[in-house]
Amino acid sequence: MHLVYKESGQAIVIDPIDSNVLSQLIQSHKLTICALFLTHAHYDHIVDLEKIRSMTNAPSYIVSHDNPLLSDPFKNVSAWISYPTTYQSCDHLLSHEDTVETSDFSVKVLHTPGHTPGSACFLVEDALFTGDTVMSDGIGRCDLYGGNINQMLTSLQLFNTLPSSTRVYPGHGNNTTISAIQSMIRYYTK
Ligand SMILES: [Zn+2]
Repeated sequence: MHLVYKESGQAIVIDPIDSNVLSQLIQSHKLTICALFLTHAHYDHIVDLEKIRSMTNAPSYIVSHDNPLLSDPFKNVSAWISYPTTYQSCDHLLSHEDTVETSDFSVKVLHTPGHTPGSACFLVEDALFTGDTVMSDGIGRCDLYGGNINQMLTSLQLFNTLPSSTRVYPGHGNNTTISAIQSMIRYYTK
């Protein structure tokens, strides 16, 4: 889960995982959550989606291809890694290169299928949130429902188009830089 906030107190959440932690941050920083963005519909990225929706009343966003996974405990992998869990559809369905203007934020959508059909990266100023598409030490697995290595290899090319100042915040592991990601993906795309 990533929380991005401005001095104004306006904030967005990327991958709504922990309602307790978020609730504490909202209180301690006096935040208003204006949107929830899902990098994809795997359970470990959406655990507390429903709780956080009711807590914040914030609209939720996902790339359209992953929206059907939310209501299927096998496709969202909750049935494999926890208890079978289903979620309501998101309020807004996204496409590649959409820009969501919400409160103080402008969020650019990069549709990067491969890990799941609707995996996305979200660019907020110079910060890129990559979910499970790329991490500091590798790319996301492509063997779960809807995964596709060929789509992943195409998606990886997108990272070569981003400015060198881009900071990268993956869904797991350490934060990194776009140049480190570009060096890493050369191994997969050469
Ligand atoms: Zn995943």
